[in-house]
Amino acid sequence: MIRSLRYHWAILQTGALPLQPDRQVDESVEHRCTVTLIWPEAGLLEREAAVLVDPCFTEAGFRQASARLAALDAGWPDVGRSFVTHPHADHVLCLPAGAFPIWLEPFYPDDPEPPLAGLVARHRPGHHPLLTTLAFTDTRGRAVCVAGDAVLDEAWLRAWEYYWPNLYTREEIVQTWASIGRLLVDADVIIPGHGPPVAVTEGLLRDLLEAFPRARHAERALYVAEWLEMRLASLRDGE
Ligand SMILES: [Zn+2]
Ligand SMILES: [Zn+2]
Repeated sequence: MIRSLRYHWAILQTGALPLQPDRQVDESVEHRCTVTLIWPEAGLLEREAAVLVDPCFTEAGFRQASARLAALDAGWPDVGRSFVTHPHADHVLCLPAGAFPIWLEPFYPDDPEPPLAGLVARHRPGHHPLLTTLAFTDTRGRAVCVAGDAVLDEAWLRAWEYYWPNLYTREEIVQTWASIGRLLVDADVIIPGHGPPVAVTEGLLRDLLEAFPRARHAERALYVAEWLEMRLASLRDGE
């Protein structure tokens, strides 16, 4: 099976979250998830091989997505597959009333064959027990991971906060830190559930390591700090 395929990716709908990690609510911000389009480096953007991740659109977001598709010289009929990171209402297929009707075949990455070999699903529970990320190598050789709400956005990541309105248990919070730790080890770029892409840099890892001891129940997930130290060392060595 071919595993060396590289992929193009584009954010079609920029995600946002009115609730801030400091518990303030910014009413001017629309609650919407990040929608990512992934398609193979070889060939055109075409139905069979274009995967839309978390296709839940707001009206404004759908307009933005349509414009971004057009800028790629493509349209909705060129997008044929969908992948949902987790079954929360703000991530499953949702089109605004009157939108161009799109029909998407679910993409199950358990045993992907060409043209979608090389898309890797990884179970990253905590935020949701079924949360599954989609990872791939992009056309610049970077390890990219579409993380869904395993990472809400960069501010929530830096604050080591979890989406507390969902009333998570201690076990789920510890799982969340473990999942974030694995993402930070594996990825060069993380596409979060509700924000723009986050580059995994030495500076980010240092800040996260500094703040981690203040995360809730961090004492039960000390291995996460060890993973981040390891990743930091490998970035320093230029690996
Ligand atoms: Zn969610
Ligand atoms: Zn969400």
